[in-house]
Amino acid sequence: MPRGTAFFAGMTKTQLRACIRLRLKERELGEVFQDDLISDLIAEKHYYCSVHDLRPSQFRMLYRPGGGYDFYGLFDPSRWHKVSWAQCLDPRDQNDWIQTALRLASAPFLSARRLAFPICERCGVLPSTEVDHVNPEFQSIARQAMQLMTVSEYRNAFRGFDWWSDQPFTLPVDNSALAYTLQAHQSTTLQAVCKDCHLQNAAGRKMLRGGSA
Ligand SMILES: [Zn+2]
Repeated sequence: MPRGTAFFAGMTKTQLRACIRLRLKERELGEVFQDDLISDLIAEKHYYCSVHDLRPSQFRMLYRPGGGYDFYGLFDPSRWHKVSWAQCLDPRDQNDWIQTALRLASAPFLSARRLAFPICERCGVLPSTEVDHVNPEFQSIARQAMQLMTVSEYRNAFRGFDWWSDQPFTLPVDNSALAYTLQAHQSTTLQAVCKDCHLQNAAGRKMLRGGSA
């Protein structure tokens, strides 16, 4: 969408974000309030609510330890649930969810590597606390994997997702991005590393790319 195109309620994303922030500034933490603009936005644009015909009727912001607030909506029948208005504005977040699910799915490969190499494979000194995707990088696996997903797979991924559950978001077993990611991990070069070596690996790659992240 080109810059300046109306996104919702006649406003661009930038205008809408500013408008909602202004409205929320007037609210106290813990206060229960109504806001039709935010209700409509969530009903129409939220990745989960929009496909499940959910429209929160009231809201409240609760203190989040470490700063900021958690945003809750009141859904029928009388159930508070965390819901992000900001995510309605940023469609990339759907991919973030998928990427997180792909990371979770590849976790067993990583822990197996770490178990096999309890000492950092790079410095040979410190205990290995994490695992580096040496080649290809996780980002590139995930990018390729997600390119395989069809529109209906995107839809199904979120349709089947139990938003009310406390369980993490996962993809259906027949999802092509998931299948690709699991397969790619059979041949991915992994390295069990300490934190410092992980950072150095990443810095080295960044330098090879000419400093572009
Ligand atoms: Zn190390």
